[in-house]
Amino acid sequence: MRTKRLLLAPHLDDGAISFGGTLLAERAGHSVEIQTVVVTVFSRSNYTREGSGDDAVVTPIRQAEERAVMGSLGVDTLFLDFPECLLRGHTISDPLDYPKQIRPELDAGLVEKLAARFEELLKNSDEVLVPLAIGEVAHVDHRIVHLAAALAWQNNPHPRLRLYEDAPYIGEENRDRVSAIDGFGLEESPIDLQAKLNLIRRYKSQPIESWEELIRQTAGQPPVERIWMVNEPTVLKQLNPEY
Ligand SMILES: [Zn+2]
Repeated sequence: MRTKRLLLAPHLDDGAISFGGTLLAERAGHSVEIQTVVVTVFSRSNYTREGSGDDAVVTPIRQAEERAVMGSLGVDTLFLDFPECLLRGHTISDPLDYPKQIRPELDAGLVEKLAARFEELLKNSDEVLVPLAIGEVAHVDHRIVHLAAALAWQNNPHPRLRLYEDAPYIGEENRDRVSAIDGFGLEESPIDLQAKLNLIRRYKSQPIESWEELIRQTAGQPPVERIWMVNEPTVLKQLNPEY
């Protein structure tokens, strides 16, 4: 039986940005034991390298990019079609100055709505990968996906829960914070960083070059992608006071 792995990606590039190196390595190793589905939550988008555009135009372009990149890795995609932060009224002035805080007037009910959707998805999976999304630098949409997944998983802790470091929104101080909590197991996978950057550059609608330095820093030397395995539900509470 193949392992069914779900990767919950907030946006239409997060699977590649945070886990593309591992997916490339699995592809190169002809690994067939795991079937990955990248589930993009906020797959309605108007965000481009030129700033915000018309979501009726931008969404199909970005979904096509995601399908092409993941298709090249033998990975399936699923789009949940929730509107990303800009379409909910958040604003963004620069690729590195993005919205971070959840705002009740813009995001009310979203965590609960997503949690209900995730509960259905968890029933049919063996393993679920969720953005780590901690600390002050976490992106609002990553935070919401993390909280909703934690909620869903607490109601149904059947699949293995693993938290992926969500570049470029992760600082070293956050990694140290997770390391200090008992109950998280760290798994580092060596990656070919150059191949990963080439993969990410295929998202031509996005300002990838603005994030490259942070993606390099997150990978470290020698470059890896990091996953935190959650061994029991109670440890999540130590990670995030918002549960
Ligand atoms: Zn994202």
